[in-house]
Amino acid sequence: MKYLIWLVIALAVVVWFQRTKKSMTAGAASSPDREGARRNPFARKRDEPRQQIEAMVQCAHCGIHFPASESISNAAGTVFCSEEHLRLAAS
Ligand SMILES: [Zn+2]
Repeated sequence: MKYLIWLVIALAVVVWFQRTKKSMTAGAASSPDREGARRNPFARKRDEPRQQIEAMVQCAHCGIHFPASESISNAAGTVFCSEEHLRLAAS
């Protein structure tokens, strides 16, 4: 029984090793077009958030960081997170 367990473990290791070996050779042997088609979706997914990343600004009153599109600035160009903080800083 002990040998059977070791045999199963050894078989699992051999199968796993052959699979990794096969996937490595398959990746190297595949055509550049197919490789590009396989990699591009990931590349696009990685690039999309980068393009969507917005500039972050810090509220002059409370110091919180938030997207620049949500910011409210006064005449001096100082940025605030809300009209309330703009009012509080002005007073
Ligand atoms: Zn604030």
